[in-house]
Amino acid sequence: MAEFDYDLFVIGAGSGGVRAARVSAAFGAKVAIAEEHKVGGTCVIRGCVPKKLLVYGAHFAEDLKDARKFGWKLDGKPDFDWATLRDNVLAEVDRINGAYTDTLENHDVEIFKERATIEGPNSVKLASGETRTAKHILVATGAWPHMPEFQGSEHAISSNEVFHLEKLPGRVLIAGAGYIANEFAGIFNKLGSKVTLVNRSDVILRQYDQSIRDRLLQISMTKGIDFCFNAEFEYIEKQEDGSFLVKVTGEEEKEVDLILIATGRRPKTEGLGLDAAGVALDDKGAIKVDEYSKTNVDSIYAVGDVTDRVQLTPVAIREGHAFAETVFNDNPSTVDYDCIPSAVFSHPPLAGVGMTEGEARNQLGSVKVYQSDFRAMKNVLAERNERALYKMITDADTDRIVGLHMIGPDAPEILQAAAVAVKAGLTKTDFDNVVALHPTMAEELVLLR
Ligand code: NDP
Repeated sequence: MAEFDYDLFVIGAGSGGVRAARVSAAFGAKVAIAEEHKVGGTCVIRGCVPKKLLVYGAHFAEDLKDARKFGWKLDGKPDFDWATLRDNVLAEVDRINGAYTDTLENHDVEIFKERATIEGPNSVKLASGETRTAKHILVATGAWPHMPEFQGSEHAISSNEVFHLEKLPGRVLIAGAGYIANEFAGIFNKLGSKVTLVNRSDVILRQYDQSIRDRLLQISMTKGIDFCFNAEFEYIEKQEDGSFLVKVTGEEEKEVDLILIATGRRPKTEGLGLDAAGVALDDKGAIKVDEYSKTNVDSIYAVGDVTDRVQLTPVAIREGHAFAETVFNDNPSTVDYDCIPSAVFSHPPLAGVGMTEGEARNQLGSVKVYQSDFRAMKNVLAERNERALYKMITDADTDRIVGLHMIGPDAPEILQAAAVAVKAGLTKTDFDNVVALHPTMAEELVLLR
């Protein structure tokens, strides 16, 4: 009889957990996975995927307006129905949830649709009360929205609930100025809501290049999004008609219909039984792991947001894959965290890879910055006064590109391809040597002066 029920028990069927389970099973491991919500995790169920679909939905507001300049006759005011968009997006989420489940089942991964907690280094307890043993346990429980507590904070929602709204709110207040805040500010603004963004500091998207975030701030304000900076919540009060009175420091009381909190996500480790197994956490509650995603307990590993390394889906997927290679394919593998491209699907979107200008100046001393500040051809004809900005940062001594940042239509699509060149260590001259593909926005990258 086998010593353990499974070779691997994965807790959490999100991006990292599903990849680790599937690849480990493909290497011949006997695998089980437990998930208390839906298979797919944050990205698929209540994150990247439904968010991007809402971004597409919201963008039609601009497209329909611009279309008239391109000769289209759209009689009357276009009518938007939130319930149709919401239900179609949720149906797509269900479809992907099914596809993920099928993939696991096709690899003979046993799925427990219930919560699992750790009982010891090789033992897991299911919500049903049953215990399962495994040679290895992988924790991939992700992160959960951080909800600050203040008077009336129970009336606010997080990004978990925002995809299920009964109706489109007329007035929205968003707390935070990071990824989720800026993406949903763009979505609600385009769908016709009055949006106010409130942040504790006066910085949006702190980790991005300053010129790029300044451009987003300027465009967002032009679109009618209000910003309240250096403001903290004092209280939220629910009114009889279902709306809310919100007071933040330094501002008048404000009446809104929805309060969305987007002030970061914390590793989901509470109540997981990690202490029972002696797994060490850092001071933010994230599971501490080594370069192979192994915790201080030999049989327990962790990947993805629960380790708070880089909170991005493609990183969790790589960590899950490297875990499977290391543990079940005798191929010790680590993840390269250098030069990870990232994007914010705001209106317009922005994207970046490598060092910001500030970071490059601090680390390298001598840098050269090349910029293109232009209006996309389509925006010119549409009389949309919205300028794109591309910025390349090079090491002045070697000509090597150390950072590339852009805001404008399709910026994330363009940056993904350009990030290959930055990661490969190419120089500005390498870019200059490429003939422009005309007329495109991306050609600006090889014409930078
Ligand atoms: P972010 O970390 O992007 O931004 C957090 C915001 O909340 C910042 O403006 C920060 O202010 C503020 N903040 C942080 N802590 C507090 C606090 N205790 N009280 C009040 N304000 C606070 O978090 P999000 O919630 O927007 O997103 C969570 C994570 O999800 C991101 O880190 C990202 O990795 C991931 N994500 C990625 C997306 C993408 O790739 N496109 C899209 C959505 C999410 P300040 O900067 O002033 O300190």
